Amino acid sequence: MQIYLLIKSLLEYGLEHKIISKYDDDYVLNALLSCFQLDEYQEPDLLQPLLTDLDDILAGMLAYAIDAKLIDNSMIEKDLFDTKIMGCITPMPSVIIQKFQTLAKKNSDHALNYFYNLCKDVNYVRISRIQKDLHFKYAYEAGDLDISINLSKPEKDPADIQKMLLSPSSNYPQCMLCKENINYAGRMNFPARQNLRYIPIVLNHHDFYMQYSPYSYYNEHTIVFSKEHKPMLVDMEAIGELLDFVSQFPSYFMGSNAGLPIVGGSILNHHHFQGGRAILPMENAKEEMLFIQNDVTYSALYWPISVIRLRSPSKEKILEETQLIFDAWNRYSNPDLMIIADDENGHHNAITVIARKKQEIYELDLCLRNNITTADRPLGYFHPRPEYFHIKKENIGLIEVMGLAILPSRLVDEMKVVKKYLLGELLTDSELTSMNHHFDWATDLKMKQEITLENVEKVIAQGIGEVFSHVLEDCGVFKKENRNQFIDFIYSIKKEN
Ligand SMILES: [Zn+2]
Repeated sequence: MQIYLLIKSLLEYGLEHKIISKYDDDYVLNALLSCFQLDEYQEPDLLQPLLTDLDDILAGMLAYAIDAKLIDNSMIEKDLFDTKIMGCITPMPSVIIQKFQTLAKKNSDHALNYFYNLCKDVNYVRISRIQKDLHFKYAYEAGDLDISINLSKPEKDPADIQKMLLSPSSNYPQCMLCKENINYAGRMNFPARQNLRYIPIVLNHHDFYMQYSPYSYYNEHTIVFSKEHKPMLVDMEAIGELLDFVSQFPSYFMGSNAGLPIVGGSILNHHHFQGGRAILPMENAKEEMLFIQNDVTYSALYWPISVIRLRSPSKEKILEETQLIFDAWNRYSNPDLMIIADDENGHHNAITVIARKKQEIYELDLCLRNNITTADRPLGYFHPRPEYFHIKKENIGLIEVMGLAILPSRLVDEMKVVKKYLLGELLTDSELTSMNHHFDWATDLKMKQEITLENVEKVIAQGIGEVFSHVLEDCGVFKKENRNQFIDFIYSIKKEN
């Protein structure tokens, strides 16, 4: 494929998707020439039509770059290089921010739509990869759970891993969420971000930026991060920030992981939130309405995680009540249930918070968490128990609490072997080793039902869903059989009249 035809195709793509305008034509063209180390441009022979699909254009360009020895043929180098290419046609931040702010003055949803589509069109949100993720539902007593197996994070090949080991470590950018990631060229052990763009927003008088997640675990998966690199802190300031976000952008939910290890998210050293335009299973869980205090309605959800839902038209009053719940939970211990607020290892109680705004009503879901560890559960007592690690070992953060499982890509290949085992086919030694940790679970599935070629995949999917439901139950501080104590805890916040 002729490189000039590919370059012209990308320019046309940019114009067609309104990423660039005709005023940017030569500017972008020369940036692309420089990217491919070309000294001049030649009009392509147009007997061949231009390519219109971005994946095809980038695949052609990467093949050229490998042939021309600009890069090695490896996943990491290809990702670094195609991001550099897309950086050439991604508008300057000021252009995007001005357009976003102009649109937001009239309608915040139009601004979000513009920005999300742009992030997809410049390939920051790699939609064609995300579409490879597997999704299915599991019918659980508290409502359907969403299960996804994430395939969009590329696997590294051995040569890449070798180069990563040899590449010098660096503290720049300080972390994956720092604002200095924008337009960063990346290196073997850090992703390129030339096509990253974010929008400055002010939440509760503090400076933040919003961007989309490149892995998009659900629709319009958004990350909001503080301008300053500072640790996560889930206090009333932070909840004020969440409520301010949903006031400004009511079509998105916004939530914060708990601020402690084990029950928190993967990044605790940079204050951030996650949200988006999605209804995750917990939002639809059945509620038990308990009482109204200070114009705030208190409900308990029927959900494996212990969740208090508050609703109020007043931001100030919902914050006042949230403070009461935080104070009460921070003090709460119940040794019979292994809920210990403080011990020689420090403080253990924490809360995962999700905010929404529906018409004029603020809604806060406060998910009670505890990160205590014990001798036989060293990774966490309210954490998936070891017998479920073959499916899910990672921390259960904000997204999973809401009933969306993000499971590792290794499961796809492992489940192919489990399928053979369930169908009674002969396994090779290496296959047996690869399914070793699934063996007890798979044998159990086999005992419970007759397995046929028709139902085997469904049996596996349902088996995975069932494990995830137990994982959530493990993370709940008040188990189903202790619901009375959960309700008592909530009533302890009610003031006597
Ligand atoms: Zn940071």
